[in-house]
Amino acid sequence: MDYLPVFLRLQHQTAVVVGGGAVALRKVSALRKAGARVSVIAPALHLQLAAQAARGELRHIAAAFAPAHLGGAVAVIAATDDAAVNRAVSEAAQAHHIPVNVVDEPELSTFIFPAIIDRAPILVAVSSAGHAPVLARRVRAQIEALLPARLGALARFMGERRRAVQRTLGALARRRFWERIVSGPVASRVLAGDGPGAAHAYAHELLTSQLDSAGGGPGEVYLIGAGPGDPDLLTLRALQLLQQADVILYDRLVSPQILERARRDAERIFVGKIPGERGQQEHIHDLLLRHALAGKRVARLKGGDPFVFGRGGEELEVLAAHDIPCTVVPGITAALGAAASARLPLTHRRLAHSVTFVNGHPGEGERTDWRCFADPRHTGVFYMALGQLPEIVARLRSAGVAPNHPVAVIAHATLPGQQIVRGTLAAIAAAARARQLTAPALLLVGNVAAFDPAAFAPELALEDFSAARTPAALGALA
Ligand code: SAH
Repeated sequence: MDYLPVFLRLQHQTAVVVGGGAVALRKVSALRKAGARVSVIAPALHLQLAAQAARGELRHIAAAFAPAHLGGAVAVIAATDDAAVNRAVSEAAQAHHIPVNVVDEPELSTFIFPAIIDRAPILVAVSSAGHAPVLARRVRAQIEALLPARLGALARFMGERRRAVQRTLGALARRRFWERIVSGPVASRVLAGDGPGAAHAYAHELLTSQLDSAGGGPGEVYLIGAGPGDPDLLTLRALQLLQQADVILYDRLVSPQILERARRDAERIFVGKIPGERGQQEHIHDLLLRHALAGKRVARLKGGDPFVFGRGGEELEVLAAHDIPCTVVPGITAALGAAASARLPLTHRRLAHSVTFVNGHPGEGERTDWRCFADPRHTGVFYMALGQLPEIVARLRSAGVAPNHPVAVIAHATLPGQQIVRGTLAAIAAAARARQLTAPALLLVGNVAAFDPAAFAPELALEDFSAARTPAALGALA
């Protein structure tokens, strides 16, 4: 270990920054965030530093560096672009045993700044000891993705209750209690930003602990949208919760690559519905309840978004009836995944003004009026459409949709086997059959189904300079 990682308390202590440029500005703001009193030694100041000095937020000494400036400092940073000055600062600081950092010069420094992940009061510092700052930043980005944004709020939530818990529970019961807090419904509620839910779950945990110091409260359920298929389209929260679930109930649309990102030793249960099968939804409710009531953390993983044709609402009702805490994590619904990967902007300003997601399954939505789709500026996205494509086309035709209305079918969107078939309403069923498309697939109707970014007419948006500069656009201008 080349360095000892420590967290330095700087409140009301003096820190000296030599240099007044953009680098100094960054260092000053880090020091000020930690509550330091900052003196900046520099003949001239960056505009923002000058503004801070004018507001009295830092002390500015408008002079060239002299060792006397270090009096009373507990830390010194040299951030000038003059190597000789930086060296002089380092030597003077070391002569007085004051910790010194020379920016980008580990040899002249007695301490270095780590890359930090700030979830105050939780802080993570990463350093490569000056060997590879770019790599350290990469590691930081990876940890950033792992740590929930509201981790600091959770730490504060626990901090505010520490004393009270200390008074009511013995040492062993206390540790078990906090472990349940950080890995159970209280933490999921705080991390999801649900204050009242967290307080409710907390009161419940505290009560259980007092009644039974061995613990073992109810479990919880995470209703997670897994997105359209590409595992990189999972949300950060979905990943975080998949990493802590004990049991995973997953659908047919959830790919093995997504399941691979879940906790290794989690129990995985396939609950995909066989089309036409009855009673499966009740079986899922039963499994959810059974595992949650046994104290497990259950991830209910669904394709796309749990609330878009996903029956997430019914599962939420069942859980509420049994007072089981549930966190809902939205997912990218198939329509949005398909639109992005097929590059069909669902509400492109020139082509459409609204979009409707429709259940294309026969029997479902039979009462809804499809006449709105006769207007090609109204985008329609039909889920569960492939099996019944000819029937849907016939219904659209009788709702007044023209035979040459632009449409597209997108199958296996965002996945390696993605296929897009475009055409007109009259021809789409035959085209889909000819290409042997398989489910899952969406039918998209409306102007945007015929969108082609390369057919862009630059005279419509000359102010968009970057677009007007593409070779095709230049040709069109000539
Ligand atoms: N809750 C899901 C939808 C479940 S219904 C969501 O929000 O996306 C199942 C239907 O979703 C399929 O019949 C198909 O129409 C659509 N679908 C799901 N994943 C898809 C994909 N990768 N490509 C195309 N359509 C998909």
